[in-house]
Amino acid sequence: MPDSLTDTLAPDAPIFDPAAFRLSPRQAEIISLARRFGQQVLAPRAAEWDRSATFPLANFRDMHREGLLGICIPEEEGGLGADFQTYCLAAAELGRYCGATALSWNMHVCSTLWSGPLADDLEMDAATRAEHAARRSLHFRRIVEEGAIYAQPFSEGGAAAAGTVAFGTEAWAVPGGFRVNGKKIFASLSGAADYYGILCTLREGDDKPSRRNTLYLAVPANAPGVEVTGEWDPLGMRGTVSRTLVFKDVFVPEEAMLMPKGIYFQAASRWPHMFMTLTPTYMGLAQAAYDFTVRYLRGEQPGTPPVKRRMYPTKQIALAEMRVTLEQTKALWFQAITEARADPSREQVQRAWAAQYTVMENANAIAAKAIRTCGGQAMLKSLPLERIYRDSRCGSLMLPWTAEICIDRLGRDCLYNPGETDE
Ligand SMILES: Cc1cc2nc3c(=O)[nH]c(=O)nc-3n(C[C@H](O)[C@H](O)[C@H](O)COP(=O)(O)OP(=O)(O)OC[C@H]3O[C@@H](n4cnc5c(N)ncnc54)[C@H](O)[C@@H]3O)c2cc1C
Repeated sequence: MPDSLTDTLAPDAPIFDPAAFRLSPRQAEIISLARRFGQQVLAPRAAEWDRSATFPLANFRDMHREGLLGICIPEEEGGLGADFQTYCLAAAELGRYCGATALSWNMHVCSTLWSGPLADDLEMDAATRAEHAARRSLHFRRIVEEGAIYAQPFSEGGAAAAGTVAFGTEAWAVPGGFRVNGKKIFASLSGAADYYGILCTLREGDDKPSRRNTLYLAVPANAPGVEVTGEWDPLGMRGTVSRTLVFKDVFVPEEAMLMPKGIYFQAASRWPHMFMTLTPTYMGLAQAAYDFTVRYLRGEQPGTPPVKRRMYPTKQIALAEMRVTLEQTKALWFQAITEARADPSREQVQRAWAAQYTVMENANAIAAKAIRTCGGQAMLKSLPLERIYRDSRCGSLMLPWTAEICIDRLGRDCLYNPGETDE
């Protein structure tokens, strides 16, 4: 008998079936670890972080024990050795069970993914590469051995995080390191991270601020001059605790460089899919909204009476439409994360923008439709759907590839060749 006739409906099955999506056994193993962790550890705690808008520190301690803090650290350095695609697929499974944890975890993981496998694809002379290898090992060891948590505060409230001007946060070279001054807004993990992986502009002598001199630095959270300010009481992603960071004459040692000088600029230009790392959380939320709807309409959602609503044709049609949107989103996203690499073709970059836009917008569209389809009793705060809806609303706001910016770049790039004007 074909599998499709013997399979039962399993709303917690892998989002991307390893056989259907041709994943390797090692990939399947890492993604399955994330999925089980999400179901068993993240899901039961998610409502509490959301209600109190507090950071899920207990989740991060447990992720350390499971090896998930080092998911992208090479195996020879004690990590799980996941590449970009494997990380994205694992992160989607976490996002499915707790959006705020997955999004915060993404900020942490990027400091290892970007300085790790991604940097390996970039050009460096042998001496620079050796120096980088030694420095990143220090960060990797802190994470693997001590469970150190890294944040990724880039946003400043101006055009810098969108990638158009130099960062206003500046690092002046001083003996043994840098002196950092500036401010970052929406710093997820603020007050909880051990290191803030900031992007800032390296200044030396009389030079003018330039994006080419962007420096990626891990500022110790306990360094004198680092301050967390402001309130945090947002619509969604409440557990990320994304408050404001102020750096006042903070001394940061040279070993804190997460990438050598000039390499972040090279990464942003040559490895553009690096900005897709915010999407997996929202891919997971899209799946979560769909899963909830299946369970609810079948009368199987925990915390609700066993009332079936699946026999109404309107519900069947709505769910089918949600499934179509979900499949479209999965297919495009999977293709984009699979072809991520250094120096992608122009078409691949265009597809990455389309995928980013699609995931971020569709996650919220699917969640909104889930609420309309399941009805009033499904949006009570005792159930996860309304949190999924609020969390999913935040995806399209994430710089540098907000939904607006993706559309803006895609439209222009599909109509103009480089240097072409209408003059
Ligand atoms: C829950 C959450 C967690 C976050 N965590 C982090 C974090 O850990 N680290 C971090 O660095 N940031 C983080 N951010 C910040 C995020 O990336 C944005 O910087 C933040 O949402 C502020 O954006 P804004 O909409 O106020 O943009 P603004 O600063 O007001 O300016 C940019 C606006 O203009 C639009 N825009 C800019 N350029 C163009 C263009 N060329 N074409 C069309 N439109 C354009 C953008 O879409 C955006 O709406 C987080 C945000 C949220 C919501």
